Amino acid sequence: MQLRQMPGVGPRSAERIALWMVRARNDQPEQIARAIAETRQAIRPCNLCGFFAANEICEICADSSRATELLCVVEQPTDILPLEKTGAFRGRYHSLGGKISPLDHVGPEDLRIKELLQRIDAEKIAEIIFALPADVEGESTTNYIVDLLKHKPISLTRLARGISAGGGLESADELTLSAALSGRTKL
Ligand code: ZN
Repeated sequence: MQLRQMPGVGPRSAERIALWMVRARNDQPEQIARAIAETRQAIRPCNLCGFFAANEICEICADSSRATELLCVVEQPTDILPLEKTGAFRGRYHSLGGKISPLDHVGPEDLRIKELLQRIDAEKIAEIIFALPADVEGESTTNYIVDLLKHKPISLTRLARGISAGGGLESADELTLSAALSGRTKL
């Protein structure tokens, strides 16, 4: 059953959705199918930061009122959403698209690290805030990039501890995230 391939949809949910599709008296299932197809076509990764975008550049990168010298490095584009919700961060982001994980055969070259280095030079970045997960892979990814950058005149910081290890950014509440942003520590 195709429905089960969607994240978070287990066998029971798939069964219920299938039943609903069969019994629906209106064209709601077709509408949802169309919306999924349209979204797939319309949404693409931002050329700069990797966030969801309708154009080459996402709305955050295109927003000229945001600080250009401040960059927050996250693992996935979805990590940007909880940080944006806090309203506490006025810089821009860079999604790596993953973290270094030898067991999963993910090395530095599989991540958007080269793009990050290019942006640092091109956009005159003054501070990088690392907001990667507090697990082993997140830590080693942070360390790897810090090593690459430590000779550059850039301030390297990380979110203050308090984001639970293992739990990603999406599991932290807005207040905790705001505090973690303002209380960020030097690396
Ligand atoms: Zn962007």
